[in-house]
Amino acid sequence: MSDDDNSPTIETETKMPSQDFQTIKSLAVSPSNDSNTPENLDDTPKPSIETKFYDKLEEYYTLKQEYDQQLRDAHTMWNNSKPPMSLEKKRENYQNFMMKRKCINCGKGPGGTIFSHVGVGQTRKVIAICGCEEKCNLNIEIYLGESAYLPEYIDYYKERVQELKKELTEYKLDLLFNLRDEEVVLAEFRTIKDQLTENLDQLLLYKKAFDTQNEELELGEKTLEIFSSFEQEVQPDEEGKYIVNRKKYLEIMNKNLNRLISEFKSKTKDYKKEPSKSKLKTNFEFLVKEVQNVQDSIRDEKYHIIYMDTVENTAKKGFKKQKMMDTYVFNPSKYDLDNQIVTMGNKITEFER
Ligand SMILES: [Zn+2]
Repeated sequence: MSDDDNSPTIETETKMPSQDFQTIKSLAVSPSNDSNTPENLDDTPKPSIETKFYDKLEEYYTLKQEYDQQLRDAHTMWNNSKPPMSLEKKRENYQNFMMKRKCINCGKGPGGTIFSHVGVGQTRKVIAICGCEEKCNLNIEIYLGESAYLPEYIDYYKERVQELKKELTEYKLDLLFNLRDEEVVLAEFRTIKDQLTENLDQLLLYKKAFDTQNEELELGEKTLEIFSSFEQEVQPDEEGKYIVNRKKYLEIMNKNLNRLISEFKSKTKDYKKEPSKSKLKTNFEFLVKEVQNVQDSIRDEKYHIIYMDTVENTAKKGFKKQKMMDTYVFNPSKYDLDNQIVTMGNKITEFER
């Protein structure tokens, strides 16, 4: 079986990039955005922390954009001046502009505003401060965070767990056949067991984060009602949210759709028997509001993203060598890439204007 030469080596673990586990944990317990609430049927819930972060980041970029635009506008003016401005003059104007540049926040100068993008990885951030001698309150510091592709993390930890399980089995066999010193084996056994627990925890955490973002959705008042009309009782989780997986959601919504369609058919029959304008109107509204909404909701959950690919057709047709029509490929995808990526460590540390 195994001796010291070919016994499994306990290598120092190659870790995935450092990450902010609080973020992953929070992702694992509650959806970070509201994209996984069936919006067609339920009301759209309030904005999340994530939305607030992006709002502030956008405010930063708007400010920077406005500031940069001033210089672009000045260039346009110099370029379009009549009679044309000499290069010499343009250069002089540019230097003057930069020397007297005003701060975008307080409008004072010279000094302008200092915008910068510094750092790498987890320390990557954007900052904005007043560049004038007498500084205004402007103070922005936003950490952009680091993105992780969840499936990659899941695969990594899955593999680690498999390796460790295999090692454990081998040590068990060593013990069983008294191949090695019991005390040594037991110590190694414990180390691997701890590693296994640790890696298993990580795996579950990432898996949960993935599922929360991609496989689960929260039911609102209306959808919850639909569920209970099919005798499907959904229990609230510890946060009081009614969470179901996509598969279950689609199953119930398809049932619901069939029920609505048969209701529509009987309404149509009824109308044919005794036609009236009001019946026609209610029937039409029923189709648009009820049936259509459920259909949309099913499509949205079946495929989180649908896009078209164009394949250029290089073959030429006929005597005139006319270009053939390109091929369009319809790509429905179960997962939206955005939901498979998590950004960790993004935070606003200063925001004053
Ligand atoms: Zn200022």
